This record gives sequence, structure tokens and C-alpha cells, in this order.
Amino acid sequence: MSDSPAANSPAPEVPAKTMEQIVALCRRRGFVFQSSEIYGGINGFWDYGPLGTELKRNLKNAWWQDVVQRELIGPHGEPIDVVGLDCTIIMNPKVWEASGHVGGFSDPMVDCRETKQRYRADHLVVLGAVEAGARLWAFVEGDDAGRAKAIKGICKYEKRDALDAARHIVRPYPTVPADERARIVGPDATEVGTLTEPRQFNLMFKTLVGAVEDPGNYSYLRPETAQGIFVNFQNVMDSTRVKIPFGIAQIGKAFRNEVTPRNFTFRSREFEQMEIEFFIHPSEAATWYAWWRDWRFSWWQSIGLTSANLQLREHDRDELAHYAKEGAGTSDIEYRFPFTAPGYGELEGVAHRSDFDLRAHATASGKNDKAKHFDQARNERYFPHVIEPSAGADRGTLALLCEAYTPDPSRPSGVFMKFNPRMAPVKAGIFPLVNKDGMPEIGEKLFRTLRKKHVVEFDEKQSIGKRYARMDEAGTPFCITIDSESLTAQTVTVRHRDTQQQEKLAIDAVPAWLDAHIGTDS
Ligand code: ATP
Repeated sequence: MSDSPAANSPAPEVPAKTMEQIVALCRRRGFVFQSSEIYGGINGFWDYGPLGTELKRNLKNAWWQDVVQRELIGPHGEPIDVVGLDCTIIMNPKVWEASGHVGGFSDPMVDCRETKQRYRADHLVVLGAVEAGARLWAFVEGDDAGRAKAIKGICKYEKRDALDAARHIVRPYPTVPADERARIVGPDATEVGTLTEPRQFNLMFKTLVGAVEDPGNYSYLRPETAQGIFVNFQNVMDSTRVKIPFGIAQIGKAFRNEVTPRNFTFRSREFEQMEIEFFIHPSEAATWYAWWRDWRFSWWQSIGLTSANLQLREHDRDELAHYAKEGAGTSDIEYRFPFTAPGYGELEGVAHRSDFDLRAHATASGKNDKAKHFDQARNERYFPHVIEPSAGADRGTLALLCEAYTPDPSRPSGVFMKFNPRMAPVKAGIFPLVNKDGMPEIGEKLFRTLRKKHVVEFDEKQSIGKRYARMDEAGTPFCITIDSESLTAQTVTVRHRDTQQQEKLAIDAVPAWLDAHIGTDS
């Protein structure tokens, strides 16, 4: 789905937070940095700093725990089996021929002859008068500066002060007839007619395997983790006791040479996926599809995306992938990011992939018979169908950051990050009120006890207000202060991030209290 405003979405909620603010906090506090920043960065690549690394790890760990390790009760009231896999990023290139990625994994792309910039045709819109023959200005959908440049261009060209709402409209670039494209000014161009016709551009990164530059030695960085699962289906069946229905889960890097990486980490060229391929009897597709779709939606809510910014969107029939047309359906779990509002951007797709992939690899590898699964319970041989919940760890992390960012002018930091405690990068800050009277020693002892299970921070620098402010920006749910009563009554003061309320606890009770408030397995 496109990460751009949807035309018919509900009226926008006035965003109290902007992407600029969120990106600035991410950089300042070490959530996300530009990759190779000291050399000017590289477009579409991002690094996670210390806080961001913990946050993303908490997201991936929660996914793994809830999908693979913990008991999950399926639609028939029985626990379901999901096992893990960890495949290589580079595989035999035949995998990508059979899967259809070599032939078809492409986006329509437009080049600008004047500026040498490249755009995704389906991300471009044009603004201009409705009459045939009018000059049109193109910009990337959702790019406010591009839109402002287009408006300025029209006003200057047509010698007017403002647009005429009845005449000047925005249209998707692909809907402009080919013979009118010569009148378009490209997003960064000054002349008309500098955009090329859209051409298909394969998104896979090619790489040389071994020292010899021979065409036969090239392979690809995987554009999705799913295919590694399909080509290992039989290995997993043969080496474990799993029986249909069951799932294989994998978390790992994927690479796509996106034409227009943008919107912070949302559309990157290197990113991480969390994918499940769930193998079922074909007759059960509708049941399992609906179950996974609904469970995955509630899972995102359970880790903190509780606002109305999360939505489930069932695809229309004409949007479905070729293999899903006859199946149970496809839906996207979407989040309303500040840069997509009032529209939504995809966090996870849940799709019925039918038997497309297993069948394709069976045919291409010549191992047709083996791949056709024999179901003893049904006494039937068939290609299993697949329900695939495929989520992005980076988009998930970005949604957590956007959701958590809570402006609060009454606090010294002006903002706090309201992470669900299970996701919070740091679970507690431990502060001696002053650096004397034995308080640092008590604090350090508590710190050493708590860090056996949780990521906690010990901080004895600056005023207590400044230490709270740092923890508010990091999204730390609890601050534990060692004060004079710690010496006399063996208590500490716990400050809650969201309410800023404080409570007294016995020092000895703190470890169990923190476990209960965080979850010991977080
Ligand atoms: P889009 O339409 O936004 O390009 P997609 O439908 O191609 O996404 P899938 O192929 O379904 O995405 O990939 C599954 C998940 O992987 C997505 O829901 C998203 O979270 C993540 N993902 C895909 N492409 C990117 C990217 N370029 N950067 C970051 N995450 C991505």
C-alpha cells in the first residue's frame, strides 16, 4: 500500500506532533542515526543507536516470544505449532527465478533528464489545470515542499495569486495520458517534458558470489525472508514432528533497492522483516486467514499501538496479488504515521498465498513429488496452502516511536515517550538523591540486582529534575530515587513516567514490583 495520504480517509486529527520533532528526538537521544552520517549518509539506510537498538530488540523479542515460544491457541481451540528458522541472506539465484522475483519484482520508475533524479511513478502526483493542454507540475505525494513549489510554479506561469479550487486539481501521475506528459515540470526540474516514460526497475540488489566476474556467479540479497522458509519446508517437515497445520517463523534482514526511499525508516533499502508462513489444508484457508489477521491486529495493540491510529484494511479484489486472487484474501495492518496522515502506511500484510510458492519451487527444483505433502490424518496428498503474516520490524519500531511521542509543555523535557513498559528500552532509572550519606552505595546495589533481569540505568549526575527529564525522553516507565528515608526506613521513591505520581516502596520489594510492572520476560 502506498505510504501517502489516502484521498477518502476520515478528516484529519490535528497532529500534535510532527515528524521533524520525532526525528530530532531520535537523533538527539540515540534512537536512530543516519547510516554513515560522517560521510554525508547514504539514502535509504539507517542505524539504531543504544536506545533504538533496545527498542527494536524488544519488539522482535516480543514477536518471537508470542509467535514461537509461548502457547498460542488457534481457531479450533487447540495450541498451534510455530517453529523458528534462520536462513541466509544470499541464496541460490534459482530461488528468485522460481519465486517470480527476477521477472516481476519491480516498480515503475521515472527518470528526470534534467536533474538525474529518479522517482516511483506511482508515488508521483501532478497539480495543474483540468483543461487539456495546461502545464502541470509533478511532486512526490505527501511532500509539502514539492506541493508548495508546484503552487508557486502555477501562480507564476498563469499570472495569478492563488489556485482556483475548481480548476486546479491533483491527479496521480500514471493517470495523465502519455501525450500530455510533455507538459509536466518534474519535481526538481525547471523545464517541462524532462521526465522519461515509466520503466520497470527490479528492486533486488545484485551481488557477486566468489572472485570470478561471470554472469553465472551473480546472486541477490534477499528482498524478503519468506522464500528461505518455502525452500526449507521439506527440511523442517523431515527434521521435526510438526504436522499440518503449523507455521515457520523467521526474523531477518531484507533488501530492496527502493526507487524513492523516504519517510525516515519507513521506506528503507535495508530493513528487517518478521515473517510467518503458516501451512494449512486448502479447505481451511478462510478460517486460518481470518484468525491470523485478527490475532496479528490485536498483537500490535498489545504492545502499545492502542490509539485510533492503528487500522485493519481488507484489500479490494483488484488489489490482490496474482496468487491470492482466488483465495481467502489479503489485509494490511496499517498505522497513521504523521507523514501519511490523514492516510495510513502498511506495518504488516496478512495474505493467503495459496500453494503458489511451494508449487513453484517444486516445479523449478524438479522435486515435485517430495514437495507434495502426504497428510496421514486425511489420507490425502496435496500442496499445503499458506497464510502469511509479514511484518516489518523497522516500520513497527517507527510506529512505536510515533505513538509514544507525547508533547507535554509542563515538563522540563517538553515531551515524554509513552512506551508500553514491555517495549521501553530502559525499564527503570535508579538515582541517589545526593552523592553522599551512603545513598550512591544503596543505589548501586539495587542497580546491580535489577540489571540481572532488566535494562536499567544508574545515574548520579545533575539535579533530580534533569535526570527525570532524560528518562522521560528515553521513555523509561519508572524512576527509583534513593533518598534520606532509604537510610532510615529502607524505602525508595518510585516515580511513574506517565502520571508523574510518586509512591514509596520498601527497597527489598523493588525487584518483584518491577517484574510485575514490566513482565519478567520482557
Ligand atoms: P510497500 O507497499 O509499502 O512497499 P509491500 O507491500 O511491498 O510494502 P511486503 O512485501 O508485504 O511490503 O513486506 C512485508 C513488510 O515488510 C511490510 O509490511 C513492511 O512492514 C516491511 N517493508 C517492506 N518494504 C519495506 C521497506 N522498503 N522499508 C521498511 N520496511 C519495509
